[in-house]
Amino acid sequence: MPDYVTFSRNVFLPVTNVCRNRCRYCGFRRDPSHPEANLMTVEEVKQVLEAGARFGCTEALFTFGERPEEHPAFKSRINEIGYSSIIEYLVDLCKIAIEYGLLPHSNPGVMNLHDLKRLKPFNASMGLMLETTAILPAHEGSPGKIPSVRIETIENAGRLKIPFTTGLLIGIGEDREDRLQSLIAIRDLHRRYRHIQEVIIQPFSPKPGTEMAGFPEPTHQEMMDMVSLAQSILPDDIAIQVPPNLTGFSDLIRCGATDLGGISPYTIDWINPEAEWPQISELTKKLGGIHLKERLPIYPQYVLNHWYEHDSELADLIERYADREGFRDEY
Ligand code: SF4
Repeated sequence: MPDYVTFSRNVFLPVTNVCRNRCRYCGFRRDPSHPEANLMTVEEVKQVLEAGARFGCTEALFTFGERPEEHPAFKSRINEIGYSSIIEYLVDLCKIAIEYGLLPHSNPGVMNLHDLKRLKPFNASMGLMLETTAILPAHEGSPGKIPSVRIETIENAGRLKIPFTTGLLIGIGEDREDRLQSLIAIRDLHRRYRHIQEVIIQPFSPKPGTEMAGFPEPTHQEMMDMVSLAQSILPDDIAIQVPPNLTGFSDLIRCGATDLGGISPYTIDWINPEAEWPQISELTKKLGGIHLKERLPIYPQYVLNHWYEHDSELADLIERYADREGFRDEY
C-alpha cells in the first residue's frame, strides 16, 4: 500500500456542452438548438473562479464539447461575443483564472499544434482522454474520437513539453486486449516525451436517454484488473488516477492507484452530475492510514523541472503554491 495518495482541489468549469462529436454514451453534449445548450459567460466563469479561490482551490478545470464552432449556430454565437473560436475564448478565460489565483488545466478536446502553442503559456497542464485505441461503434459519428487523431494531440503536447493528463474509458465496447494496447500506446508516448503525468482509469457510467443507457458498467473486478494492468505497464513516474465519486477507490489503491484526481469543494462533476464528490474530510477517513496529500494540477516532477514558462504570471502562481517537493504548500 502507498504511504499517500494525491488529489487536487479544483473548480470544474463546463465552458460549453456543444460538441461536434456524437459519442453514444454521452449525457453531457447538447446540439446548439437545444434549450440546455450552454456557453458560459465571462461573468459566470468569474463567479466560479472567485468561489474557487475562496474555497482554497488551486485548479481551474476547463472542460468542453469539442470544436463546437463546427456548428454554424455556435460559430455565430462565439463570433457575437468577439471570438473566432472556442480556443481563442479559452485563452482569455485561462488568463482570467490566473488573475483569480487559479491554475488552469484545459481539456478542450483534440487540438492542433497551433492550439497547444497558444494555450501552453496559460496552462499548468492540459489533458485529453485517449479513451481507447480501438475503433468502436460507441464512437461512430465522432471524428475527434479516431484514435490516431487523439494520439497526435497527445504527441504534439509532448513535443511542446506540456505536462499532460490522459486516460482510458473502461466498458464502452473495448476488450482487454484493446485496454492493453491503449496503455502501451500511452507508455510509448511517455517514453518519447516524458510528459504524461497521470493516466485516469475511468469506468463507463450509463446515462439515461443515451444510446448506451442499457449498456452494463464495468464490474469492480474489471476495474481492479485494469488498475493492476496499468500499474504493470506504465512507468512509475505516471500516476494512476481513479475518480472517487465513480469507483470503490480503496480496493483500487491496493491494486496500484495513486491519485484521486480533482475534487471540488464547490462545483459538481458536470460529466457525471449524479455522482457527488466525497468531502475531502470523508475521504481522509475512508483512506484509513493512507495520507491524503494535496498536489497542484501540475505534478511535482514538472514543478521541480520547471515545465512551464519562466517569468510569467503562471510561473509566479505555481511557485507560490508549491512546496519544496513540488506538492501544494500548506495554506
Ligand atoms: S467528445 Fe465528449 S462531449 Fe463530445 S459527445 Fe463525446 S463524450 Fe460528449
